[in-house]
Amino acid sequence: MSNRYSILIVEDEKSIVSFMKTTLMANEYDVLVARDGEQALMMIRSHSPDVIILDLGLPDMDGLKIIRSVREWSQVPIIVVSARSREQDKVTALDLGADDYVTKPFGTSELLARVRTAIRHIIGRSANAQSLPDGVFRAGDLTVDYKKRHVYIGEEDARLTKVEYKIVSLLSEYAGRVLTYDFLIKNIWGENASYNNQILRVNMANIRRKIEKDPADPQYIFTEMGVGYRMVDGD
Ligand code: CA
Repeated sequence: MSNRYSILIVEDEKSIVSFMKTTLMANEYDVLVARDGEQALMMIRSHSPDVIILDLGLPDMDGLKIIRSVREWSQVPIIVVSARSREQDKVTALDLGADDYVTKPFGTSELLARVRTAIRHIIGRSANAQSLPDGVFRAGDLTVDYKKRHVYIGEEDARLTKVEYKIVSLLSEYAGRVLTYDFLIKNIWGENASYNNQILRVNMANIRRKIEKDPADPQYIFTEMGVGYRMVDGD
């Protein structure tokens, strides 16, 4: 990629900052660092970074407050970094408008994959903002055909129901990103749908039987424990 993207790291732990900084700079990203929430909010306004990597446990404020504040005026992708013990925070962060998360401790490849996904989404957003997806999504043998509204495995029609198709196509539109149960339910069954994971789970079990070779070890749609589902990146 010729033009460099700038990434703002908001994190107070020095060792994590230096790990992320090294990793990102080695991959040709410009890196900015904010050590606390106050500084982060200032730098987001003054530098408008392309992507923000945000630790939720900051010394001066809860990272969730930053998401809420930034989302009032910016759609910049936010990748949340959180400790495993703060499971509920991930859900809250995504529902507040964060794009993704990584759980501490995480490795280089995971961090870079999240950043690439975020950047792909900025590019996609400006290329066809607000438009419905057309064409197809492909990942391995899986094809989602948005015009025919069918899903294929190889040449075979997976014979999804309407609801199953909606779930798969929605996940594919956001491929690489985790979608929360709440987000999926609202988008599939409507704003007023009651929050019921069970129906979503039943549908997911049926989808997996139809599209996965081994539903117990899925290759296309992954479960993010306690948070939601993620579609594998497209080819
Ligand atoms: Ca921290």
